[in-house]
Amino acid sequence: MSTFRAPKGTYDLIPPASATHLAVRETLAALPRLAGYGYVETPAFEDTAVFVRGVGESTDVVSKEMYTFDDKGGRSITLRPEGTAPVVRAALEAGLQQGQLPVKLWYSGSYYRYERMQRGRYRHFAQIGAEALGSADPALDAELIWLADSGFRAFGLQRTRLLLNTLGDATCRPLYREALVAYLALLDLDDDTRRRAEINPLRVLDDKRPEVREQLVDAPLITDHLCEACQQHHAAVRTFLDDLGVAYAEDPRLVRGLDYYTRTTFEFVHDGLGSQSALGGGGRYDGLSESLGGPPLPSVGWALGVDRTVLALEAEGIEVAGSARCEVYVVPLGDAARRRSVALAAELRSTGVATDIAYGDRGLKGAMRGADRSGARFTLVLGDRDLEAGTAQCKEMASGDQSSLQLATVVEELEEKLRRAVS
Ligand code: AMP
Repeated sequence: MSTFRAPKGTYDLIPPASATHLAVRETLAALPRLAGYGYVETPAFEDTAVFVRGVGESTDVVSKEMYTFDDKGGRSITLRPEGTAPVVRAALEAGLQQGQLPVKLWYSGSYYRYERMQRGRYRHFAQIGAEALGSADPALDAELIWLADSGFRAFGLQRTRLLLNTLGDATCRPLYREALVAYLALLDLDDDTRRRAEINPLRVLDDKRPEVREQLVDAPLITDHLCEACQQHHAAVRTFLDDLGVAYAEDPRLVRGLDYYTRTTFEFVHDGLGSQSALGGGGRYDGLSESLGGPPLPSVGWALGVDRTVLALEAEGIEVAGSARCEVYVVPLGDAARRRSVALAAELRSTGVATDIAYGDRGLKGAMRGADRSGARFTLVLGDRDLEAGTAQCKEMASGDQSSLQLATVVEELEEKLRRAVS
């Protein structure tokens, strides 16, 4: 063991578990790509102001959880705690809003929050995100929700639930906010919560403590304060979701930890994850572009947590197919055989057969142990005498069957055997 360990709140992804993470990313990203979303990649850090203005100063993410530092040039830099503000910043910088709308983008990456570590909550974590910028069409909200829902369903997850809400807009939310502030002012709240109620009263609705929850039973709900336009938008989103066969539960108390949301908000939760139950979420953020100095650009998007999706799969005992495992393991015995084996492995890999070789002088027994561990379907033993005879000895690992193959045609023969083994 080395003197060093991964920093607190982080963990390493190591084979074979890392294959599950890769598969999760690939599955969650596959559907947005089929729906016209293009790949976007932004730096791991941004000017701190992108998050302060974009995500909002009153949020926990900005006020408590950011990794912020001055770089050597004296600029305030922040490791990205989320993906939406950077993606909107990048789209505006490239002028994408001047082209065809909506601009549809997807991304995959690492995010950083200084949080208290617990299962499902880390300081370095991975998200897949999708954003559609420049359209207020409720069909787009439904498209994004369907994409996420279908992604989770592609794994066969059964215990995910979709919670849906609307947060109103610049017309109706201020009135709702006033009603909520007036209600909260009469409650028995500690100083911290009272401060929070002043800065961002909607967040109090998210409080998990029983003594606060009890007092919120009769709190005014946004759904009773929506303006006509927001009501229509929400009704349209629900109709599209019904048409798409997406099941959801309305949760008028669903608020999210980022300030930029307007209208549609949603969260996917999983019932096997304990307190960190949110697998992912998102919603509309019609005002974000303007907060970043851009033009009005009504937009909607989501971010799904890769780490928690992996935990949800574990909780349901679902194994996702890992990346290409070894199919053929080549065991060379002797120097000439080694030269031939290196070339043969390259040839097999070039035709798409996952191939590994026994490296080092481990002898036949040691090399066969390596073959077992590799999980290969076939092992090809190549001795110097085989080489002279132009043959190789093939062992099917599951059955133990052995056969002698001609070296001249060994690639085609192995391909044929692998095809038969699959069918
Ligand atoms: P948010 O940007 O907070 O809405 O997060 C979207 C999703 O990212 C959440 O539902 C989680 O699945 C995941 N996520 C957020 N924060 C963390 C964290 N600290 N550790 C692991 N996953 C996280």
